[in-house]
Order: sequence, then structure tokens, then C-alpha cells
Amino acid sequence: MGYGIIHNEEPLLEAFVPTRLFHREGQLQELKLCLEPLLENKKANNAYLYGPSGTGKTAIIKWIFKEYFEGISAYVNCWMHSDSNDVLREIALQLGIKVDEDLMRRLEGFALKKKIIVCLDEVDQLKNGNVLYCLSNIGMGLMLISNKMPSYFYDLEKRIRSRVPLTEIHFPAYTWQELLDILKDRAEFSFVPESLPTELIETASRLACGDARVGLEILRRAGRKAEARRLKKVTRTEIVEASREARKLRKSPLLCSLNETERIVYEILSEKGRMMSGDWYNEYCKKAKNPVTDRMFRKIHASLAKCGLIRGEGKGRWKRYEAL
Ligand code: ADP
Ligand code: MG
Repeated sequence: MGYGIIHNEEPLLEAFVPTRLFHREGQLQELKLCLEPLLENKKANNAYLYGPSGTGKTAIIKWIFKEYFEGISAYVNCWMHSDSNDVLREIALQLGIKVDEDLMRRLEGFALKKKIIVCLDEVDQLKNGNVLYCLSNIGMGLMLISNKMPSYFYDLEKRIRSRVPLTEIHFPAYTWQELLDILKDRAEFSFVPESLPTELIETASRLACGDARVGLEILRRAGRKAEARRLKKVTRTEIVEASREARKLRKSPLLCSLNETERIVYEILSEKGRMMSGDWYNEYCKKAKNPVTDRMFRKIHASLAKCGLIRGEGKGRWKRYEAL
């Protein structure tokens, strides 16, 4: 046995639903406005929560549902349930509705008595958008979550704008100071006192590039490494090593969610590490069969940057990009 460094791992894990949410007052306020009607058994206003990963989108919804809407809410991750029937079944199970061939009618009957709120997380992973209209037609409120910009989602689901109005709620990447507050709070509950110096929590906050999930994973891995090395305290070495591992992990699901063009564009930059905007576009034109226009190419930059996969510096053709 090494020295104990982490005495409770749970607060560092992704599935943990925090009771305290930092720096999300604005988003919380907007969500309250959308969800308030439910308290009087009226239909909630739909919302679209978007922003890069690790910005608290899932956490905020899970917390609100648990706190205020138990029994009238369902949370479905569309990465795991991408088929319409699968989504409906999952909602029924969570609401305690019998799952049989009359499922849609049963859901409708339930929704007539009580107003329901449903969260579809990673909504861009749905095979098609039909389930959105089914749920909306029977009076259920929708909280949709995605890494994608609203415009991307509207292009994907062209019908949605007219049929299911959405309040857009943006979750920007955290600043390192904001992350520091989040990480300090969790570290307090999981690390043995004095085993993780505050300045190292600050280092982790900077290395996490605005992503709370990465920040927490850096702390967890660094703690476990220090234990394996029989240290009494975590040192900078463990933090830096853990940061490299944690950032690699984060990319895979994001990369899977890119479309063909986005992937080609990203891979060119990722191979080189850093490029000027003009060179990047030229390289891309050489590789792509039917290259998109320069304007579209810039849109792709913006969406890759929003996902936290790349970072840009400077202006116009002289803008330099870096894969993260
Ligand atoms: P997203 O869904 O935007 O990718 P998550 O909600 O899964 O991000 O957040 C990632 C991790 O960071 C979770 O463990 C979550 O509890 C934590 N977290 C994110 N934002 C906050 C916050 N504002 N306060 C406390 N914990 C947070
Ligand atoms: Mg999430």
C-alpha cells in the first residue's frame, strides 16, 4: 500500500452530480425561466444548451432535474440511445410507464395529466430528428444538449426552427480562475488534507484549457500516480504527466462526432501541430476531392475551436492555428 492521497474518488468522477455549481448563474437563470411553467403544470419552454465539452451542460440539467423535477423528468444520452424507439422506451422506463406496443399512447396519456420535461443529451447523435417532433407534439418540454453551434443543429434538423422553438443557452469554456474554484471544491472532498498543494490545483486549472472534465481527470490521475510512487504529496511531475493523458482521452468522442470534411480539416492541422490559415486551406484543397469554399472553411475553424480541438491567434489570412 502506498500513502493515502485520494480518500474518496467519487467527487472526481464524471458521473458525480455536484450540489454546488460555480460560475453558471446566468445559465441557471435562463434555465429557470424556461422551466418555471412546469411548477404550475404548464409546458416548459424548450432550450438548446451548447458549448465545448466539460462546461457543465450535463451537470446543470442533472442537478436541476434531481432538485426540482423528480418524477416528471427524464434524461437520455443519445450517444447511447440514438434510435427514436430506444429514446421513447428509455423515457418511459424513467417515468415508470409500462413499455409495450402502445408505448406512444401511454406516453401521451401520461403527458396529458402531468407536464413532463425531457433532456436529450448529445442530441446531434440521434439517427434522425423524428423523436423531437413526437415528444413536442404530445406537449413535452425539451432540453437539448450538444457541442454543436445552434446553426449547425438547425442545418441538421431543418424542420426544427419552425416546429420546435428553442431558447439558446451558451456554455463557454471556463477561464482558468473559474476552473480553479471548481477543482478546489472537489479536491477538498476527495484528497487527504495537505496532500495536494493549492498551487498545483492552479497548474491543473491552466492545463485543462477550460474543460472541467479534463481538470478533474488530471487531479484524479495525478493523485493515483503519487500513491503508486509512495509519495506523501502530489508533485508537479504527476500533474504534468496526468495532464498529457487526460487531454488525449478527451479527444476521442469529440473526434468521432466530426463529419467527413471537419475530420480532414482537423487531421491536417493535427499532423503539423501549427499552421497559418492560408497554408492550412491550401493543404486541405490538395487533399479534398470537392473542397469547400474559403468561407465555409472558416466556419469549420470556428466550430472546431468551439469544441476545444483547436486554438487560433491573430487575424485573417495571418491567423495561426494550433491543434490542442
Ligand atoms: P459537459 O456536459 O458540458 O461536457 P459536464 O457537465 O459533464 O460537462 O461537466 C464535466 C465535469 O465537470 C462533471 O464532473 C461536472 O460535475 C463538473 N462541472 C462542470 N461544471 C461545473 C461547475 N460549474 N461547478 C461544479 N462542477 C462542474
Ligand atoms: Mg455532457
